[in-house]
Amino acid sequence: MREIIRTEGVVLKRRDFGETSRVVVVYTYRKGKVQLLAKGARRPKSKFGAALEPLTLGEYVFYYREAKDLYTLSEADIVRSYQRVREDAPRLVYGLACVEAADKLTRELDPDPRSVRVLGGALDALGTGTSPRLVLGHYLLHLASGVGFRPELITCKGCGTVRPAGAVTFSPADGAIVCDKCASGFGDGVVLKPGAYNLLLFLSEVPAAKLSRVKIASGAAAQITSFLLAHLRYHTDIELRALKSLGALVGSG
Ligand SMILES: [Zn+2]
Repeated sequence: MREIIRTEGVVLKRRDFGETSRVVVVYTYRKGKVQLLAKGARRPKSKFGAALEPLTLGEYVFYYREAKDLYTLSEADIVRSYQRVREDAPRLVYGLACVEAADKLTRELDPDPRSVRVLGGALDALGTGTSPRLVLGHYLLHLASGVGFRPELITCKGCGTVRPAGAVTFSPADGAIVCDKCASGFGDGVVLKPGAYNLLLFLSEVPAAKLSRVKIASGAAAQITSFLLAHLRYHTDIELRALKSLGALVGSG
């Protein structure tokens, strides 16, 4: 008998397929990232409605069709549409950066319910007054950790000092911080001043829902963004398209 799967997930992206259909990529709790063929999704009265829009958290019912080597979607219902994120252009860009990062850093059919929950938490936080830059930084940090690229933030790679005082340098090649005294013995890295470093430690320890009261200096935010991009680039060799369009927004969040 064919397996019918019912699970919640977040729509990461979609593309047109054939004359009237779409393939949607959904990050689901039960199956991880899956590609779902949504037949007739581009028809005006499609039964799937808005449930296939990127950023949507929905409940999806699908089954595998060997002939097509694809999962076929049979039902889709919106659980959360994140309307407040969609209606605010900068927040939408940050939301799209989150789903793009999730798409690029995860493999298909590799279930990781915690990572889906973390993505939902980021989208929830983007719909509140929380600084979107902070939400994205928090999300990328936890996503990187969830897929096996957890940066060592506590202990200096050179001398073993725990939570070193003063500025630290993050070495992408070592995936770890080094203290001020050891920095010259390591190659190029991203300097994190004490404010940015302490904020990063805080981000690594709390869920996204706790970010709403955090005040963030723009310098600290920029250092954290540089650190995360350098870290992701080194380990995954990817560029995030949505993040490039954030250049114009830095300073506004
Ligand atoms: Zn050191």
